[in-house]
Amino acid sequence: MDFRLGEHSDAFRAEARAFLDEALTPEVKAQMEETGIHHNWDFHRKLVERGWLAPGWPVEYGGQGRDRLEVLAFAEEFQRAGAPTYGTGTTLMIANVIRLIGTEEQKKLILPRALGGEIIIVLGFTEPESGSDVAAAQARAVRDGDEWVINGQKMFTTNAQDADYVFMLTRTNPDVPKHQGLTTFLVPLKQPGVEIRAVHTLSGERTNLTFYTDVRVDDGMRIGEVDGGWEVMTVGLTFERSGAQGGESVRLLSAMEHWAATTTDEHGHPRSEDPSIRARLGRAAAENEVSTLLARRSAWVESTQGTSGVEGSMGKLFASEAITRQGADFMDMLGPDGLRSMGDPTAIEDGAAEYSFRFALGATTYGGTSEIQRTIIAQRGLGLPRSR
Ligand SMILES: Cc1cc2nc3c(=O)[nH]c(=O)nc-3n(C[C@H](O)[C@H](O)[C@H](O)COP(=O)(O)OP(=O)(O)OC[C@H]3O[C@@H](n4cnc5c(N)ncnc54)[C@H](O)[C@@H]3O)c2cc1C
Repeated sequence: MDFRLGEHSDAFRAEARAFLDEALTPEVKAQMEETGIHHNWDFHRKLVERGWLAPGWPVEYGGQGRDRLEVLAFAEEFQRAGAPTYGTGTTLMIANVIRLIGTEEQKKLILPRALGGEIIIVLGFTEPESGSDVAAAQARAVRDGDEWVINGQKMFTTNAQDADYVFMLTRTNPDVPKHQGLTTFLVPLKQPGVEIRAVHTLSGERTNLTFYTDVRVDDGMRIGEVDGGWEVMTVGLTFERSGAQGGESVRLLSAMEHWAATTTDEHGHPRSEDPSIRARLGRAAAENEVSTLLARRSAWVESTQGTSGVEGSMGKLFASEAITRQGADFMDMLGPDGLRSMGDPTAIEDGAAEYSFRFALGATTYGGTSEIQRTIIAQRGLGLPRSR
């Protein structure tokens, strides 16, 4: 068994690191920290210039045809560096859905602009009354000739303020079981009737509430069949759960290692000799290895057997719960000094532990909460009967 990603992946990882050293400037990082927006147009366009927006895509669609393990090595570096990739990620996720099941017109209209860095696409699944139970969506789409009229509300439409389209899950038939009356559309966001309100979370991220009043969308922007939205969602959500995991934990551990190696306690003893500090660092290192390996297994399953399912859920579940444990553990280790935040010159390691402690709250929620990931693993992995 060889857990390494191979020579090509190592070479691509080195190129990614060199790119990040240049493109992920202190200004880009500061902007993310100040605004909570994990999308940066300059950074995004630099990726496009390098041809790296979708390195794993086929060349004819604007990718580089790199294999799944190369793409994972690349993604590991971006995540470990804390690069602003959320807008890139949602755009590619939906562009991928269009590439696989969209019409020829949709591919022509959307893919060159998405891959060319001109537009970003965001996700409109969650509503005030439906998050985990995403199939309970109520935002209504009613047909009017060649168009549809949309009325409703979406929660947590992250990056809507920068986006051109929202990939929206709507209810087109309220009279059938919930999974059978859904349809997905690519709705242009820059039009009358769309209202975007900022929401700043405790994790430090900016997301949005979005409201839709008599918003019109052409039938040509329907993705999949009428009332066939659940099948489309199944394709999309698989992409959301696969990918690199645990980058934040790697960054946090490296900051804590640096602190332990370079400071002394009140008696002048190096902190790196304190058994309790060593135990916490050792535990985190083992957890980070597991997160990395679970994501690598998921990528390997994808590259050999098509899409991954339960492996992606396991990776997401483990990594997001690991950063939750580590954030709390390291805050405990640092004591009250650990409470100072990023940007405060007196903060320990630029507030890395405090930031991770808050960041973890969101990580176990988006992309499906921990309870939902466990349910998926129990049903699809262990074959237990479906819950409600
Ligand atoms: C920062 C951030 C960004 C986000 N970005 C987006 C985005 O861009 N687009 C988008 O559409 N959504 C986005 N989301 C929404 C995210 O996907 C949802 O928050 C998530 O799916 C949970 O839904 P909810 O918040 O309605 O919680 P609920 O579903 O109401 O869950 C509340 C609690 O009940 C538990 N629970 C629910 N159902 C079950 C069950 N069947 N069994 C056991 N426990 C259960 C949950 O695990 C959770 O602990 C974002 C969320 C956050 C925090």
